[in-house]
Amino acid sequence: MNPAFAVPEFDAELIARYDASGPRYTSYPTAPQFRGDFGAASLRHAIATSNADDPSRPLSLYVHVPFCRSPCFYCGCNRVITRDQHRADQYVVWLQREAAWMAPLFGPGRRVSQIHLGGGTPNFLDLDQMRTLMEWLARHFRFEREERREFAIEIDPRHAEDDYVRELAKLGFNRMSLGIQDFDPQVQLAVNRVHAAKRTHELVQVARCAGFESINVDLIYGLPKQTPESFERTVAEVIGMRPDRLALYGYAHLPTVFKAQRRIATADLPDPAERLALFGNAMQQLLAAGYVFIGMDHFALPGDELVRAQREGTLQRNFQGYSTHGHCDIVGLGVSAISRIGNTYSQNERDLAMYDAALDSGLSPVAKGLVLDSDDLIRRDVINELMCHGRLDKRGFESRHGITFDEYFADELARMDALGRDELLAMDEQLIQVTPRGRLLLRNIAMCFDKYLQHGMQMTCYSKTI
Ligand code: SF4
Repeated sequence: MNPAFAVPEFDAELIARYDASGPRYTSYPTAPQFRGDFGAASLRHAIATSNADDPSRPLSLYVHVPFCRSPCFYCGCNRVITRDQHRADQYVVWLQREAAWMAPLFGPGRRVSQIHLGGGTPNFLDLDQMRTLMEWLARHFRFEREERREFAIEIDPRHAEDDYVRELAKLGFNRMSLGIQDFDPQVQLAVNRVHAAKRTHELVQVARCAGFESINVDLIYGLPKQTPESFERTVAEVIGMRPDRLALYGYAHLPTVFKAQRRIATADLPDPAERLALFGNAMQQLLAAGYVFIGMDHFALPGDELVRAQREGTLQRNFQGYSTHGHCDIVGLGVSAISRIGNTYSQNERDLAMYDAALDSGLSPVAKGLVLDSDDLIRRDVINELMCHGRLDKRGFESRHGITFDEYFADELARMDALGRDELLAMDEQLIQVTPRGRLLLRNIAMCFDKYLQHGMQMTCYSKTI
């Protein structure tokens, strides 16, 4: 068996030594590298090139819904706090305009096999607004056959009634991601996100009965008032729901960047050793319950497609983390949404007023982006191989990219010697292999190949690697 799929080794002393901030590599290059000279014309050109390269390459639509009813104090997302439901009426109109502009640019063979509604809070949209949006998307894009579609939605369990969930299933959603974060009442009060475990259990049951095939749960460790005992109870409660996938994110306390986080008292945060213990204990609980560690902060049941894709070597990373749809072009719709078309990334205006103004004037809301050069593509491939499959076959890589690996990456390999000495990696003539000790430090390994970090890019915008 590939040692990169073995049970990860948790060594608190080693992890503490590699304490650093760094990208999550949901894209490479990362968003801070996107440039303002990439606009609507560049996006149109990227789509035309992608149509010509592969006329049947599938599409994945990402729709960003920015509204939330109240602020969670840990949040670092791009969101708008409001209780005014009418704001979503207008927003759906802008999404319709953007979709109507984008959809005809794709060739007739480009079918939508995946939709992901993220936020903010996608279930801020009421059922009429959701129906209008989904029918519009179905009318303008060509959807893949029902049995081959993966339509996912992020749900805030505080605001989802049973009937709402059933109607989502009728609209074609078959995957749900529940933002639980923590069930402990003290923690929930400290982060301003109060909801009952019992209700979330019920929601999972309703979703399963309604036909949702896959349930994902998000948890966060490192939150204020969390203790190893309280978090152990939360994880046990979640395991009892048997979600298919689970993400265990580390809280990134950056109060100078995210205003809401100033409401969190630093004294209430677990210290670095406690934080590591929270992660380590939760990981052991999940492994003992039969979950498979995919990488970074993702776990899945053994029969899940993520596990299968990793074993088969088809797993990729995209803006949602690990994905089985990495071969798709991603079409981002909505404020701040990011697209990945062919060899480009582009991002819409991050400010809602700017996004609205662009669409109101009949302009595209694309604010910035990047055309990847050959070096970016080579490094993206290295990072993907190491983060998804835990190994890189140099000879195969050389024939894909026409380089001599050891020459091209001489500096990077020298930098990785220290990681090799710490047994995070095993390297020989043919292979770079992530070891069980290295599995929890994948971001640190990938950072060795990030040209922009080596050129002194600011790290303050990134979270801790673990
Ligand atoms: S965590 Fe989610 S629900 Fe809470 S404020 Fe952020 S985006 Fe909104």
